[in-house]
Amino acid sequence: MLPDPATEVRIDFTDAYPPERFLLANLTTLDGIPWACCPRGWLARGLDALAQEFGLIVKAAFEHEFHYSGAEARLGDSYLLDAMRQQGGFAQTLLPALRANGIIPDTFLPEFGPRQFEVTCQPALGLAAADDAVKLREITRAVARFHGHKATFSPIMAQGAVGNGVHVHFSLQDADGAPVCYDETAAHGIGEVAGQFVEGILAEMPALVALTAPSLVSYERLKPHRWSATYNNLADKDREAGIRICPLTRLPGSDAATDFNFEYRAADAAANPYLVLGALVWAGLEGLRNQRCLRQPTTRDPDEMTEAERRALGLVHLPGSLSDALSLLAQNETMGKAMGPEFRAAYLMHKQCEIDFLEDYSPEAQITRYADAY
Ligand code: GLU
Ligand code: MG
Repeated sequence: MLPDPATEVRIDFTDAYPPERFLLANLTTLDGIPWACCPRGWLARGLDALAQEFGLIVKAAFEHEFHYSGAEARLGDSYLLDAMRQQGGFAQTLLPALRANGIIPDTFLPEFGPRQFEVTCQPALGLAAADDAVKLREITRAVARFHGHKATFSPIMAQGAVGNGVHVHFSLQDADGAPVCYDETAAHGIGEVAGQFVEGILAEMPALVALTAPSLVSYERLKPHRWSATYNNLADKDREAGIRICPLTRLPGSDAATDFNFEYRAADAAANPYLVLGALVWAGLEGLRNQRCLRQPTTRDPDEMTEAERRALGLVHLPGSLSDALSLLAQNETMGKAMGPEFRAAYLMHKQCEIDFLEDYSPEAQITRYADAY
């Protein structure tokens, strides 16, 4: 592991409590050659290809939901100001710690579920967006521990409950920093380049969830009416779309072209941020290379459509289990080309081990095990 000095994180607590320091690293061979299975390297190669072939840079922000054990679980607390009070000094430590490490928080709020909170932050370019997601999770865990509690980002905390999602907001800009996704005159404001990139992702999405929702319990979250995603659909301001076209504010000082972004909703924090953004970039890249034509956004629940209607719109149900997702990934040509044989085989092998390990656990015990780990 070769640490990248530019990624250093430092959290200063109080004089009586040791500061936390860590760095992010690239995985190389003993000769220093980038290793085929390094997730950060995989994303970096995808970003390079996007820049070389199309002169484009990804701008992204990972929006995280998590449970904080220091809050009370009171029925009906969702979004309440009192739910904000209950988390005590946690956010007051978290937000400055993020800022001190170059992550600029946008919002911190109590979410719908018991003890569930959400933190959003400003987007970053390329690799830094995924670095920020890794840092944010670790900073949040460290701050929770400092307060004598625990933050868990596990995708689901109880069967039938709403999950902890990681929504990835993304857009593209050119080498001069000009946003290229928005076209005021186009349907839904989606410019041609953005349409090709997004269609590339939607086309591969059933296989991509093996990388973006990679735990056994991730599939308890990817169910209808949990504000997550169940189909590879695109929809305007729809919280159950595979990819949501995000709403634009028209407040003074806002700029539609800069603000316009898409939100990939089928990800959770069991996924490595480099693999999540890597999956989006490599699939989007293939959409650009093939100049794919963007499908029609859906305007109603795909579950209520007939099979023929879904087929006409290119809609495929996302896999219902990690095993099914891994089978799709194993056969997926775009990801096979992007990951290469060694990396894909290693990923599939590790995930199969995880399935074998947890196979005899009850669904409740799996949820508890993941909550402990994540
Ligand atoms: N908790 C939901 C999820 O699992 C998302 C809620 C929201 O739209 O913020 O993705
Ligand atoms: Mg949320």
